[in-house]
Amino acid sequence: MNGIEGGVAIVTGGAAGIGRAAAERFAAEGARVVVADIDADDLAETVDLIEADGGEATAVETDVSDADDVASLVEETVDTYGVPDFALNNAGIEGSSAPLADQSLEDWKRVIDVNQTGVWNCLTEELAVMADNGGGAIVNTSSIAGLSAAGGGPYVASKHGVIGLTRAAAAQYGPAGVRVNAVCPGVIDTEMIDRASDEMGEETIDQIVQAKPLRRMGEPEEVASAVVWLCSDESSFVTGHPLVIDGGYMA
Ligand code: NAD
Repeated sequence: MNGIEGGVAIVTGGAAGIGRAAAERFAAEGARVVVADIDADDLAETVDLIEADGGEATAVETDVSDADDVASLVEETVDTYGVPDFALNNAGIEGSSAPLADQSLEDWKRVIDVNQTGVWNCLTEELAVMADNGGGAIVNTSSIAGLSAAGGGPYVASKHGVIGLTRAAAAQYGPAGVRVNAVCPGVIDTEMIDRASDEMGEETIDQIVQAKPLRRMGEPEEVASAVVWLCSDESSFVTGHPLVIDGGYMA
């Protein structure tokens, strides 16, 4: 027993990639999962996949950049399954990798709205109910771009911001029993990387992958297992930590 079974988990960006893999993993370990995303069709598919494996999940269409949407997500979670014990705030977009001076204010705002304000919206709602309920565990998806310049300017800034919010939340809510950590994936084989490959060229992505000691992309499931570990009792003394899952790239 690692404390996941019987719990309630919220996963944003749950319609694809890392979010879907994490939702499936939470469900496989016996949690009831609320998956949230802007993509209603793929979200329904995540629920189907979980149910086909005997798990329990509910979809709530949510735009994480919209504070009212996120408030409704947490409210619906409480109404459906009870106060969440775990959350993965993971929805994100890559933005453009063009040089800073070639990007517009709108480019900047969109990435910050989804990646950083989205995590802010989720944290404020989740922390309130978890603290009232005696505790919980939250993971925010940052990136190696949260620790280095591994991406476009707005993306790098947003992912550094996610680590800042993670640390602030961990410091403030530890006494209330809520642990807050971040995962910092390297190149993981998802649709986000397919899109980056279209923009930057397959060769650039290949060069990044070949620069990693493990010489391959990561799989979404490899991030999912770290997320579930960070929410489990196995990591009971870990909080405020940005966990790098990158095949050694940052080394
Ligand atoms: P993905 O594009 O496969 O999935 C992202 C999901 O987020 C999609 O289902 C999308 O619809 C959803 N989403 C986008 N905007 C949203 C919004 N406003 N509200 C709700 N949902 C929204 O990408 P992924 O690779 O699974 O990425 C998941 C997270 O991991 C992102 O935060 C990303 O920045 C981060 N990340 C990915 C990689 C990688 O190499 N794939 C590396 C580091 C960090």
